Amino acid sequence: MSVVSTYPLSQRVLQMEESATLRMTQLARNLKAQGHDVISLSIGEPDFDTPDHIKEAAKKALDEGYTKYTPVPGLNELREAICVKFKRDNGLEFKPSQIVVSNGAKQTIANLCLALLDEGDEVIIFAPYWVSYSAIVELAGGVPVLVKADIEQDYKVTAEQVKNAITDKTKMVIFSSPCNPTGSVFLRSELEAIAAEISKHENIFIVADEIYEYINFTDQHTSIGTIPSVKDRTITVNGFAKGFAMTGWRLGYMGGPEWIAEACTKIQGQITSGANSFGQKAAAEALLGDMNPSLKMRDAFLERRELVIGLLNEIPDFKVNTPEGAFYIFPDISAYFGKSYDGQTIHNADDFAEYILNEGHVAVVSGSAFGADNCFRLSYAASEDQLQEAIRRIGEAVRKLK
Ligand code: PMP
Ligand code: GLU
Repeated sequence: MSVVSTYPLSQRVLQMEESATLRMTQLARNLKAQGHDVISLSIGEPDFDTPDHIKEAAKKALDEGYTKYTPVPGLNELREAICVKFKRDNGLEFKPSQIVVSNGAKQTIANLCLALLDEGDEVIIFAPYWVSYSAIVELAGGVPVLVKADIEQDYKVTAEQVKNAITDKTKMVIFSSPCNPTGSVFLRSELEAIAAEISKHENIFIVADEIYEYINFTDQHTSIGTIPSVKDRTITVNGFAKGFAMTGWRLGYMGGPEWIAEACTKIQGQITSGANSFGQKAAAEALLGDMNPSLKMRDAFLERRELVIGLLNEIPDFKVNTPEGAFYIFPDISAYFGKSYDGQTIHNADDFAEYILNEGHVAVVSGSAFGADNCFRLSYAASEDQLQEAIRRIGEAVRKLK
């Protein structure tokens, strides 16, 4: 949506969508500041604190003098730890020269789009998708091509759909697994079929966003980069925000072909100079140290998932999927379209999210931000008490709609 401005702003920013997840979170903060009792289930942020051993590593690094610029693509020590992690957890072989550490996975994705896309290049985005993919692609001059999976197919795009979306302008395919916002996890067989289609076109690159890797309730996580036919044109993106509860540390990374890592380093060298120094020392500890805190967080998310699915299923006409990872649930609420209460009519998912905020004082995010105008996203990274109360309020609000 374009915004009309009386200021001489660039078309780039005028054409850009504001991040819907961050906007809803701010709206909830504003309502809270006015004294309303708002429960915010809008942002994708673990409610846990960063594990102590990681915090200790950052404090130690500060005391040891890690207060200066690091090499632009990251401290060697961290890049080596990332190589160990990729091999250990994913079966991916990288040299440190193929790794770039950035200020969050968000910047990693921005670097990749700026490095690979020219004006008019098409990027296939599996929808429902994480809000920022389309905005970042457009910022880099690319054209998002949304390929949509609905709840009946467990929100997973098929190889056939990918095949039909590829044109001679396709440059990149991007998706997350486990997925934000649906929680879906691709099976190896599904990724093999998708890789088989992409491998027929030598100029298409895959950006595999695996930031929710450690919040996975299945017994498998497949990195598409391990599939031989696409190994040399897959860039695997990951980060510390979700699996280690480190959102505020702003640390993410990629592993991929060396020439792409070099291009991302060049861009990063002009834009941020690299990620913060002592945080990188702590990040190496996160990857190589005790993983038990992350496993405990995963188990807690699984318990909450069960709670939330049970409660949402009691609300009439909510179609609820079973997320296999991440900490979101993405119900289809289109059965409520056309219904009204107290002068407010629900025409679409934006209206629904606004109604739930105004009437129930629960902040969720409209599915339209994720390319699915029939759904809303609820983050269950909140306490069980908050989740219970929030879903009680959502149920009460929707039962008023006639
Ligand atoms: N990818 C996905 C799928 C996400 O949900 C997020 C949200 N944080 C990011 C990337 C960006 O992560 P970071 O906080 O590391 O920038
Ligand atoms: N990725 C999280 C979310 O989807 C954090 C907010 C953001 O970066 O968009 O809510």
